[in-house]
Amino acid sequence: MGYEVTLIPGDGTGPELAEATRRVLEATGVAFDWDVQQAGIDEYESSGNPFPPATLDSLKRTKVGIKGPTTTPVGSGFRSVNVLLRKELDLYACVRPCKAYAGVRTRFPETDIVIMRENTEDLYAGIEFERGTPENARMREVLKELGSVVREDSGISIKPISVFGSERIVEAAFEYAKRNGRRKVTAVHKANIMKFTDGLFLEVARDVATRHPEIEFEDRIVDNLCNQLVSRPEEYDVLVLPNLYGDIVSDLAAGMIGGLGFAGGANIGTHAAVFEATHGSAPKYKGQNRMNPTALMLSGVYLLEHLQERDAADRLERALAEVIRKGEKVTYDLKADRNDPTAVGTSQFADAVIEELSA
Ligand code: NAD
Repeated sequence: MGYEVTLIPGDGTGPELAEATRRVLEATGVAFDWDVQQAGIDEYESSGNPFPPATLDSLKRTKVGIKGPTTTPVGSGFRSVNVLLRKELDLYACVRPCKAYAGVRTRFPETDIVIMRENTEDLYAGIEFERGTPENARMREVLKELGSVVREDSGISIKPISVFGSERIVEAAFEYAKRNGRRKVTAVHKANIMKFTDGLFLEVARDVATRHPEIEFEDRIVDNLCNQLVSRPEEYDVLVLPNLYGDIVSDLAAGMIGGLGFAGGANIGTHAAVFEATHGSAPKYKGQNRMNPTALMLSGVYLLEHLQERDAADRLERALAEVIRKGEKVTYDLKADRNDPTAVGTSQFADAVIEELSA
């Protein structure tokens, strides 16, 4: 029997990317017992529910999943599958390693950082008061009583950051650093301005750091960090950030390593871990066998690491890096000219990785 893992193909280009990733994971020689479950817009159209209970039950049972992207239509009553997953499984840590592989066009070839983003708190907690509503008026009244006047025509979002939430994400960053031979953790914040939220995050981070003296610790104000990342990326290693900064810096880092096609990730929680690419379902390319599967395949590398299959993870990462470095059997986005007729499809990219794995 292999590892029981929930496989969610997703929608749009998701199923093509998931199939390519399944094939390369199996080619490492590690045995998997896939529990294929559905989520996303196709599932919504057929069953009326984008995130059926069977999918959640499977993840709760296997405690580990790999997921293709899922579409969230704008302006419908359809809730994001990713938000639901995060909430139901308390996936509090979003881990995004961002490494520039040789062969990828980037101005930042030295980049090799890991983003550890808190996933449940901050301005993303969904505590919002719409302009013009009675709730908004009540909130402004309370604020006025407490000495803060907010203009009547304001929308209001609340930014909660707790000791509990900060401690577990910073602890996860140090644990990650130790497990993966990383030397430094940098806490990122805006504590000079938001003293009681980001200031609390920083205070907790400093405290957690004292428990891990073998790992270097420092902090940076988020705007300064962005400047330094694009000036001296080699100085950074593991970054731990509250939710909003984590979201923004993740995209900055994805751009630095060549784009969304290379940004894999993991969502780690108390009840399960779900591995997925940073990018979305790119629905306009659905069924065209065109997308770069690297990000989901790298998420597969992190899945193998999570299963403690370190050797298979290293071999798969090396095979991927080699295909990218050679630059022959790669998708259009990896070619100097995007219309290069020698570009291969998603499935042929997987074939090249499998060939490299057995070389
Ligand atoms: P997207 O990431 O799907 O695509 C944006 C563009 O990036 C594409 O048109 C393509 O040019 C490029 N791109 C993305 N992935 C690529 C790849 N693997 N290879 C090559 N090029 C790639 O972003 P979007 O268009 O804003 O979102 C589409 C849908 O995906 C939306 O419904 C959104 O809500 C959803 N989404 C899902 C997830 C997820 O499931 N984790 C994440 C982000 C967005």
